[in-house]
Amino acid sequence: MGQPLSLTIDMAKYVMRQKLRGRKRYPMVLMLEPTELCNLTCTGCGKIRQSEEILKMRLTAQDCFDAIDECGAPGVSIAGGEPLVHPEIVDIVKGMLARGKLTMLCTNGILLHRILDKIEPHPRFTFVFHLDGPREHHDRMVERKGVFDIVMKGIEESKRRGFRVTTNTTLYKGVNPQEIATLLQQLTEMGVDNCLLSPAFTYEEVNGANSEIFLHRREVIAMVSEIVRLAGPKVRYYNTPMFLDFLQGKRDLRCTPWSMPNRNPKGWKGPCYLLTDGHYDTFEELMQKTNWDDYGYGKNPRCASCMMHSGYEASAVEKMSPVDMWRMMRWMFAS
Ligand code: SF4
Repeated sequence: MGQPLSLTIDMAKYVMRQKLRGRKRYPMVLMLEPTELCNLTCTGCGKIRQSEEILKMRLTAQDCFDAIDECGAPGVSIAGGEPLVHPEIVDIVKGMLARGKLTMLCTNGILLHRILDKIEPHPRFTFVFHLDGPREHHDRMVERKGVFDIVMKGIEESKRRGFRVTTNTTLYKGVNPQEIATLLQQLTEMGVDNCLLSPAFTYEEVNGANSEIFLHRREVIAMVSEIVRLAGPKVRYYNTPMFLDFLQGKRDLRCTPWSMPNRNPKGWKGPCYLLTDGHYDTFEELMQKTNWDDYGYGKNPRCASCMMHSGYEASAVEKMSPVDMWRMMRWMFAS
C-alpha cells in the first residue's frame, strides 16, 4: 500500500516552506514518548533502567498536542515505554490524525486490543510492531516467552482490518543475518507494508548493562549489507533508500538530530534520542540552547558508533540529487 499522494505533497511543501524561510534546522518527525512505562523488560532497552519517579511521570493528551503544535513537524512517532499502557493513547492518536499528522504508533503488540476496536484505518496512520527476529530470538530479547506469537497475531489482525503495518527490527550483535532476512521475507509475504531495520547502538542509559550486545559502525555496515543482500529485492524497507545506503556504508550523511526531536515526560530532550545533555521546557529552548555543532560523527566521541535513524534518516533530505529525488518518490509510492 503506497503512501497517499496528498501526504507526499504535504511533506514536499513543508520542506519547501522551511527552505524558503531560510530555516537551517527544522523538525520532520516528533519522537513522542507520552510515558516511559513498559509492560516488558527488554534486554537492550535503556528506558526501563530509569528511576521509579521518571517511570511514573506521563504526558497528558493535551501535552502531546501542545508538543506537536509547538514544533510543527509533519510527522509524529509515538513510542515510549509502551504507548498502549497510556490511558489516553486513543485520544492522542486521534488528535494527531485530526491535525493531519503522519502518525506512527510503536508497540510491542501485547496490549493491541486496547486500541484496535477504537480506531479506524487511516491513510496517515501506521502501526509499528517491535519484532527483533524469529520466535526464539525475539522472545529472548524481550525476556518473555510467547511474545513473538502475540506480535504475529497482532500483525495479521491489523492487516485484516486494513491498517498500514510496519515492523521495527532492532539488530543486536550476534544476530544471524540469514534468520533476519528470512523473517523480513515472511513479513513481506504476510502483507506487512514496510520493515524497519534499527541497528542497536550503545548509549548512556545502557552503558554497562549488556553493553556487549551493541554494535559499532563497522559491524552495522557489515550486518545490514548482508541482511539486505540475503533478503532480496522484494522486501519493502521503512528506512529511506538514502539512509539504507548509509547503513550499508555506501554513502556518507551528517547527523541532523533536530530533524527528529524527542519530547518525553521530563521535557524536550537534547541533543537526541541517544544522548541526554539536557531537558528543556520548550522546543524553542531546545533549538536555541543546544550547541548542535558539537554533535555528530567525528565531532563528539560519544557519537563515534552512532548511525541512528533519528540522527541521520532525515539528513539526506537536506541535499538531494535528482536521482535521490526519483528514488524517494519511488520509495514513498511503494511504501
Ligand atoms: S551522532 Fe547524532 S544521533 Fe547519534 S548520538 Fe551523536 S548527536 Fe545523537
